Amino acid sequence: MSDIFAVYGASGCGRSLMPVASEYLRRSNNGSQIVFIDDALDSDTHINGYVGMNYDRFKNLDNDSKWVLIAIANSSIRQKIADKLVQDDVSLWTVQGANTLIMDGVTVGVGAALSPFVTIAANVTIGKCFHANLYSYVEHDCVIGDYVTFAPRVSCNGNIHIHDHAYIGAGAIIKQGTPDKPLIIGKGAIVGMGAVVTKDVPAGAVVVGNPARPLHKA
Ligand code: UDP
Repeated sequence: MSDIFAVYGASGCGRSLMPVASEYLRRSNNGSQIVFIDDALDSDTHINGYVGMNYDRFKNLDNDSKWVLIAIANSSIRQKIADKLVQDDVSLWTVQGANTLIMDGVTVGVGAALSPFVTIAANVTIGKCFHANLYSYVEHDCVIGDYVTFAPRVSCNGNIHIHDHAYIGAGAIIKQGTPDKPLIIGKGAIVGMGAVVTKDVPAGAVVVGNPARPLHKA
């Protein structure tokens, strides 16, 4: 039987990525079927004109090979699902918009979602299951870890290192580092929307504002 492709997650993130994924498949001259997977679905249903099913049902389909884009913003869930897929011999699928621009010397790990109007500039290295939402960019010489998430319009300037599971909110701007001293966003850090990050952010920290400072809850 033929190959099958899927977008895992049929909430906001998944429904926004499905048209990108479906168009990407068409651009690759691949006529395979594409479906939604969502574990909240009991039986086959239709979502925006696509078939939707839960993972158990997808797993039991009789296709030769299966490719899945995990379209869920929460990075821990993304990792849990990615581990399950790999164990089940399902391939992690990378998808990009027709106008996504990828420059020279770029490495992108498996399972990335590169939305329309995203630019990845020269000599950037990116880990597994990266999400770059609409209009985000990653400038030259950045190193991005696994399961990193960019909301829309993130400005990630040159020589920045972002560690695994960091989340960068919509419209955040991160100051460029230097080859000798890259600016570092630590593992699991959260940068609030619209923040202007001018210095390193420690692992697990939440920073907001301009200039970005740790969030102290009331
Ligand atoms: N989901 C799933 N399996 C999981 C965890 C989540 O199918 O193990 C689905 C969940 O049912 C929901 C979607 O993923 O439909 C996540 O949606 P949410 O609105 O939380 O996040 P977003 O779409 O913004 O990433």
